[in-house]
Amino acid sequence: MVDDSYNNSRYARLIPLSNVGKEGLKRIRKARVVVVGCGGLGSVTAVQLTSLGVGFLRIVDGDVVEISNLQRQTLYREEDIGKPKADVAEAFLKKLNPDIQIEKVGEYLSEENIEKITSEVDFIIDAVDNFKTRYLLNRIAIEKDIPFIFGSVSAYSGNVMTIQRGSVCLECLFGQDFDEILTDTTCTGVHPAIINIIGSIQISEATKIMLGETPSLLNKLQFCDIRTMDFEALSLKPNHSCFCRKYVKK
Ligand SMILES: [Zn+2]
Repeated sequence: MVDDSYNNSRYARLIPLSNVGKEGLKRIRKARVVVVGCGGLGSVTAVQLTSLGVGFLRIVDGDVVEISNLQRQTLYREEDIGKPKADVAEAFLKKLNPDIQIEKVGEYLSEENIEKITSEVDFIIDAVDNFKTRYLLNRIAIEKDIPFIFGSVSAYSGNVMTIQRGSVCLECLFGQDFDEILTDTTCTGVHPAIINIIGSIQISEATKIMLGETPSLLNKLQFCDIRTMDFEALSLKPNHSCFCRKYVKK
């Protein structure tokens, strides 16, 4: 059992923040979240959620650690090559903050396990590397009315958007024919700095959700490019023929 003084020390730089305080910290401590994907974005977001002290964190990945991951996936070390990412990530996060409940799922998200993976969580962090999986998450988030924080990176740029029932969703934005090649970082490469920026913006949105505030990136796509240093929030309108419209309250 962890006492209050221990918690107050651990979170001493969090409590003074204007929107946190001791009440906000209690809300964070009760939050239940799933991070889908334990790659680059998963490393950034899972570590920050663990440091923040969320009550429950589910991490999901069916992959094993490879040497090419180490350039950007900060959950892993050279000695972890060949081990399941979910196992290594769980051990890393537990050492970082033993005060939170971590549940690992050593599987890729699919139509078969998505219901279980998104059960009993307050919001979903997108840390996957393909749009097929993102679209599954986008659909279930709208259907189950769970906020979903989309993030994607490629080469020097990335995007973040927060999606919830009623807001613009991924299918509103990209339609059904999104070109998967554009986001395959095997071809494009990816700069570690953009991953840290995009993952951090996802967590700033997540914090607002945990604190009961309105996220800043509903109906807005935050675009970031570290090659040109263009950072722009593009205002978006829903597509009225999208599936998500049927879930909007009239
Ligand atoms: Zn939509």
